[in-house]
Amino acid sequence: MFDPISLIAGGALVGAGWVAGRFGRRTRAAAPQPSVARCGCGHDLAMHDRETRECHSEFKRKTNGVATWVRCPCRQYSGPQPLAEFFAPPLLPPQEP
Ligand SMILES: [Zn+2]
Ligand SMILES: [Zn+2]
Repeated sequence: MFDPISLIAGGALVGAGWVAGRFGRRTRAAAPQPSVARCGCGHDLAMHDRETRECHSEFKRKTNGVATWVRCPCRQYSGPQPLAEFFAPPLLPPQEP
């Protein structure tokens, strides 16, 4: 004969284990990268000038066996804007050609 109470306890244990495993997996999988606003050039927003939007990062490039630092060719930040800037877009002066 099965004792209904131990059956329930056993089921609850199995269920708790399943939930814990699932929850554990979920938290590991979700290990969230803090949402870094990244530009198309691969550098984050902090590397870009707030006014000119140019990237200040540098690439290390080897030319004829000599390592040289080349400035990132990015001239315009193209990644997602941080929320603060969404709500308060910088007022750019009108640019006449
Ligand atoms: Zn960039
Ligand atoms: Zn860049």
